[in-house]
Amino acid sequence: MTVNPLMTRERVVIPPRKPPTKAEKIKAWNDANGICELCGKPVPPAGEGVEYDHREMRGITGDDSADNLRPVHPACHGEKTAKHDAPRMAKAKRQEKLTQAKDKSKRSRLRPPPGTRYDWSRGRYVRD
Ligand SMILES: [Zn+2]
Repeated sequence: MTVNPLMTRERVVIPPRKPPTKAEKIKAWNDANGICELCGKPVPPAGEGVEYDHREMRGITGDDSADNLRPVHPACHGEKTAKHDAPRMAKAKRQEKLTQAKDKSKRSRLRPPPGTRYDWSRGRYVRD
């Protein structure tokens, strides 16, 4: 069995997701003055009308602190995750692979297949 050299190199370890505590939510809500940063409208402090978003993407920074949380509407949150965070996370994963690939032969394998383009909404390459 051969060992994939990409699997052996050191990488940033993102800690497991930790749900925010009630105190962290209260702090984040107070810091935001109860305003959803994504749409600028008031958001309730708890219940089904609010979700807590990671301002800097947790999947990249690993930052789970209250300072990195902000209250947002579930609808605003879903839109941000789909349009910003998911494509950004995919890009980060590609960049990580590129930095781990030392020689050009490995880099060239990461180019998109011919005749395809990247579909951001689906998060993968598609044929036109
Ligand atoms: Zn909102």
